[in-house]
Amino acid sequence: MTVDDDAGVSRAVARDLRRRYGEQHRIVRAESGDAALDALREMRLRGDEVAVIVADYRMPGMNGIEFLERAMDLYPAARRVLLTAYADTGAAIDAINVVDLDHYLLKPWDPPEEKLYPVLDELLSKWREEERRPVHVTKVVGHRWSARSSEVREFLARNQIAYRWFESEAPDGQRLMQAAGADGLRLPVVITPDGDALVEPTDAELASCVGLATTPSKDFYDLIVIGGGPAGLGAAVYGASEGLRTVLVERTATGGQAGQSSRIENYLGFPDGVSGAQLTERARRQATKFGAELLTTRDVVGLDVNGSARTVRFADGGTIDAHTVILATGVSYRQLGAPGLGEMTGRGVYYGSTLTEAAACLGQDIYIVGGANSAGQAAVFLSRHARSVTILCRGVSLERSMSYYLIQQIRQIGNISVRTCTEVIAAEGSDHLENLTLRDTSTGATETVGAQWLFLFIGAAPLTDWLDGVVDRDARGFVVAGPDLSVDGDRPRGWELDRAPYHLETSVPGVFVAGDARAESAKRVASAVGEGAMAVMLVHRYLEKL
Ligand SMILES: Cc1cc2nc3c(=O)[nH]c(=O)nc-3n(C[C@H](O)[C@H](O)[C@H](O)COP(=O)(O)OP(=O)(O)OC[C@H]3O[C@@H](n4cnc5c(N)ncnc54)[C@H](O)[C@@H]3O)c2cc1C
Repeated sequence: MTVDDDAGVSRAVARDLRRRYGEQHRIVRAESGDAALDALREMRLRGDEVAVIVADYRMPGMNGIEFLERAMDLYPAARRVLLTAYADTGAAIDAINVVDLDHYLLKPWDPPEEKLYPVLDELLSKWREEERRPVHVTKVVGHRWSARSSEVREFLARNQIAYRWFESEAPDGQRLMQAAGADGLRLPVVITPDGDALVEPTDAELASCVGLATTPSKDFYDLIVIGGGPAGLGAAVYGASEGLRTVLVERTATGGQAGQSSRIENYLGFPDGVSGAQLTERARRQATKFGAELLTTRDVVGLDVNGSARTVRFADGGTIDAHTVILATGVSYRQLGAPGLGEMTGRGVYYGSTLTEAAACLGQDIYIVGGANSAGQAAVFLSRHARSVTILCRGVSLERSMSYYLIQQIRQIGNISVRTCTEVIAAEGSDHLENLTLRDTSTGATETVGAQWLFLFIGAAPLTDWLDGVVDRDARGFVVAGPDLSVDGDRPRGWELDRAPYHLETSVPGVFVAGDARAESAKRVASAVGEGAMAVMLVHRYLEKL
């Protein structure tokens, strides 16, 4: 794909590209960022792949860096090249950070044999070496208000699997179901790129049909990382890059909570923010590049100590062993117990998941429950699609729970309003959410409002019951590590080594914890990644003395 607002230059780039690569690749040319994005969207829906994007820097409306940034959301694996005049090399160097630029080319690129082709040859060969998803796109036929349809879409989106959505009642959806021999009573129907139809598939069935690994290749590893959020991915990258035989096991999709974030603004090195999906895709690529195995849809339900081996048990009864384990299981959203919310979950009521549903909220009124950053980010993101967004928060103000920059952003967006001292006490609807009952906590007054969409961000809890009796946890279930394990200078109960636990080591030697699952952790992407890296350093120290 090449984009340049100067038609002459655009034609010249396309001509040179076609001359060398035309036999093996299709060269698509656009004369503005918007037109190029439209073309990329269409290609994405068709299931086409994009190898390299060459964008001119100086374009009216949207410059080359802004364009590449948006193109990354559609094709994160495409290699990115910026075409600049000599005077703009400063901007190109800046772009290396913003859009993870692979190369910048100075105009003119004549002769192409010397200045253009060697660069593109290298980028194309790197692109070819990478494991990529199947070319044809997965199709999902479902009902907008079917809870499982919505979970399947979320699963595919979080695993960055391109899919096309078809309403089961629309003619296209009907035709596909007919072709698949499905009666429509059980939804969704997922049609794989190879044309196989899966009716109401489980996550594990989906994972294997879209090419995600679910089974380990070995019985024994140096390191098992449990959880594929920032801490787990960080640990997998460092573990594998430092030569440890590393496997990461994730219950649903890699990315964790961060993968659900529309824009992470405070992660070092991304001054313009980065979406959770982009960060996850890059981390996955990085971990795989270094040789880490990433298993998805495998729920870990047990940890046993067998001499020097640590055994991890899966929900389906399978096990794997390793010298060491890093627990990076993070936290999950708490559920709100108000009457009616349970029945409406997935039918207008969603915990945390805003990205997949956003397009369906177009022009509608949305309610968000929560007063922390995650609620604020969701409000900012959804305000671009919705008619109005109302943040419901129990506290008297957002100031105590939300970052200052987000509060400022929210104040400047006209269609977001904030209702403090307000809680949801009931929800109702038939097929999908229709009404919410709200209570003013300062006066006790209640009010019923019409609502089709409710997103809840009401804090999170670690789901670590499966570690009970094995690893010490605090009263809320967070895993205790390092110095926090010593009570009055004593070693933890059952600790037999003649050294104290290392910093991120749990009450079981060789089992470490990183990220949000750790008691007293910072609950930030950067600290989770940092702890993942630090835990690997301590794994080395442990292995040296094994
Ligand atoms: C919407 C949202 C926006 C956010 N925005 C920001 C931000 O802008 N800046 C910032 O610094 N922080 C932000 N955060 C917080 C940040 O995302 C978390 O601190 C970070 O993701 C923690 O990483 P983690 O790897 O420790 O855990 P998690 O991200 O929670 O990942 C844990 C993973 O472990 C898996 N898992 C759990 N149990 C098991 C099991 N038994 N078996 C297998 N897998 C298991 C889960 O499925 C999950 O994928 C945000 C959070 C949310 C929800």
